[in-house]
Amino acid sequence: MQAGRPTGPLVQGYEVIIGFETHTQLTTQSKIFSRASTAFGAEPNTQASAVDFALPGALPVMNKGAVQRAIEFGLAVGAHIAESSVFARKNYFYPDLPKGYQISQFEIPVVQGGTVEFFLGDEKKSVRLVRAHLEEDAGKSIHGSGMYSLPGLAIPGLAVSGFGPGDSKYDLATMSGIDLNRAGTPLLEIVTEPDMRSSAEAVAYAKELHKIVTWIGICDGNMQEGSFRCDANVSVRKPGAELGTRREIKNLNSFKFMQQAIDYEVRWQIEQLEDGHAIQQATVLFDPDTGETRSMRTKEDAADYRYFPDPDLPPLVISREWVEKTRAEMTELPRVMAARFVADYGLPEYDVGQLTQSKAVAAYFEAVAAASQQAKLASNWVMGELSRRLNSEEKSIEASTVNAAQLASLIGRIADGTISNNAARQVFDALWTGEGQDADAIIEAKSLKQMSDTGELEKIIADVLAANAKNVEEVRAGNAKAFNALVGQAMKATKGKANPAQVNALLKQKLG
Ligand code: ADP
Ligand code: MG
Repeated sequence: MQAGRPTGPLVQGYEVIIGFETHTQLTTQSKIFSRASTAFGAEPNTQASAVDFALPGALPVMNKGAVQRAIEFGLAVGAHIAESSVFARKNYFYPDLPKGYQISQFEIPVVQGGTVEFFLGDEKKSVRLVRAHLEEDAGKSIHGSGMYSLPGLAIPGLAVSGFGPGDSKYDLATMSGIDLNRAGTPLLEIVTEPDMRSSAEAVAYAKELHKIVTWIGICDGNMQEGSFRCDANVSVRKPGAELGTRREIKNLNSFKFMQQAIDYEVRWQIEQLEDGHAIQQATVLFDPDTGETRSMRTKEDAADYRYFPDPDLPPLVISREWVEKTRAEMTELPRVMAARFVADYGLPEYDVGQLTQSKAVAAYFEAVAAASQQAKLASNWVMGELSRRLNSEEKSIEASTVNAAQLASLIGRIADGTISNNAARQVFDALWTGEGQDADAIIEAKSLKQMSDTGELEKIIADVLAANAKNVEEVRAGNAKAFNALVGQAMKATKGKANPAQVNALLKQKLG
């Protein structure tokens, strides 16, 4: 299984092994097996139907939209879409699971295989997927005083009379309630091979997966609301040894916590092993307040769940026509778009990875490249100055104060030699702050045009050489720093308006 996989960076002589299970909440209007709404934040138990409450005799009916989204995901990661897959019952007891089992897929999932490709720095990585399967989410338990703020907690048919604040018989501060609004929400659980070798790689994978599911629109990606939550399986081993025993960190819903949790877990496991303790397979939770992981329960095996095919649901059959129709209608995928950017614009892979971070960034770049006919400059400016500005003001590219047409005309003036890069940044500033609307007008107003008259430049350089005799001597003795000092002097004398390449060339000529 691990043949040919490179060893990752070692931590205290140990190799880190990570596999991910990610629950993505699908963007359907209604639940996976009922017509109740999936909208977030409603009053408890107002968005649950007889199926979600598991009332006797209520039968699940498959939501076609959930299947559609599973197919789209499979196509996006180059996976096989099963022609026939099977829903199974995963049996366990939990107060927020009134049926006593969760409907999931076990032996035959709808999406099989596939890969997720991304960059870690400028290194290309590829993580293999085992599967992605459809399943329903469970409800929520709400504990203690938090219940006071939640109206409508009583479950129809289970209501306790007189249950409410001020009731002397019940102390709500010590009681728990069940909210089944989330029960039956459609999930696609995406499982990787244990292919990741560091917390940084795991976070980069999770970000790429998040990009894919939001790009194709099957998930809203809202991590705070739990629409995209990751379980990180972590183990360590000495290089070349068998896979170590893993512990599973549940429900990581921020990229920052993900990194912290894995780093803590790796250190903890190494410490245990170094102290001579074996690692017990376990499910753990990360506590952001302490920065530590702690054990929730020792881990169940598949056998504990007594999986069996759900007799209430027939096999999920997907025709080839459905798959092909979906393929034909799907939006251009990030990695297809990235390949096109390499082919059409001749951009490096690193650039295209950055430019296809979101649909909006890609569209902005394409607009600038088309208008300026300068793809590489467009890429540099979108990834560089523009991104920096957007980040520092926490703005999305849709809210950029410099639009694509303005950036394109600015880039045009760099390309035709009218302005230097330095001057271009000043123009960009003025566009950004709204001081000016048009690159040419700003160049004019701030007299930022580059000096194109070589005669004038030659004279300035001659003056600089005369005034810096000591530097000139040092350059002749082979001191490169002294040369740069002369370039600096010349640029200063032209108030930054000379073309630095031209200054370099002229200085070399004069000193050579
Ligand atoms: P389960 O469904 O019981 O959690 P799986 O065998 O399906 O178990 O594995 C779940 C996840 O754990 C997968 O992402 C897999 O890649 C990962 N995994 C399996 N073994 C290891 C290991 N030794 N170290 C790290 N991750 C692992
Ligand atoms: Mg698991």
